[in-house]
Amino acid sequence: MTFSASRRALLAAAAAGLGLRLSPGMAGTCEGSGTARTLPVGTAGGLFVGLKSYPRTLALADREVVLTFDDGPAANTPRVLDALACAGTRATFFLIGRNAEAQPALVRRIAAEGHTIACHSHTHPWTMRQRSPEAARTDIQSGFDAISAALGKPCAPFFRYPGFADTEDLNTWLASRDIGVFGCDLWASDWTPMSPAAQLALVRQRLERARRGIILFHDTQAQTAAMIPDFLAGLASGGYRVVHIAAGPGQADTLAAGPGWTSETERTIAMARHH
Ligand SMILES: [Zn+2]
Repeated sequence: MTFSASRRALLAAAAAGLGLRLSPGMAGTCEGSGTARTLPVGTAGGLFVGLKSYPRTLALADREVVLTFDDGPAANTPRVLDALACAGTRATFFLIGRNAEAQPALVRRIAAEGHTIACHSHTHPWTMRQRSPEAARTDIQSGFDAISAALGKPCAPFFRYPGFADTEDLNTWLASRDIGVFGCDLWASDWTPMSPAAQLALVRQRLERARRGIILFHDTQAQTAAMIPDFLAGLASGGYRVVHIAAGPGQADTLAAGPGWTSETERTIAMARHH
């Protein structure tokens, strides 16, 4: 669906009213998916979602997707934000604490544009399993502290392990602190260099197979920033609806994996040494 001129004008006016910045080049060519609904995600007592790692995921309907971006804020983050703003679509950013310290204004921009800010550790250890439990906890806590300091308020109690490399000990600790652990249901594999067109084709193919789920991208990657406008336009034309997750009360509803489910965590860690 292409936005009509009046729709674009309305969006631009709304964006201006919110202090948002739409890049001039994109304002005239904006296509998008919008955000269908906000899903409050309670993490009381812990939450483990994302079928790549865990046997449960968020209670999404057919053709509902949650967009997540890891490893920022970074040089390509503004391009991703421009595309999301243009499409009126909200996402969740799992930030690295030391990157948030380096670019606090960009952290605040992500939040000001309506996205959810979450934590992806402080220094992105590869992997947490090579750290002592104490050092790993310190890295996670330092990440939350740095991101919240940049933001000026606590970020969402949502955490994603670098490379999905969790441990029982850390999972128990996170649950005791009411922090939800997010894996994902499908990923873009955008840690592998490829053209934006190949990137777009790959993630579209995976989404057509999965039909719903939490999707992992990296806003650090130029190939991802380049394809996101077309990806968002394709969501709209494909009948997909974007669900925006935000911190909520209690514990979120989840869906169990289908029969034959297995975790891909260990295989992923073994394969993704370079990530
Ligand atoms: Zn990462």
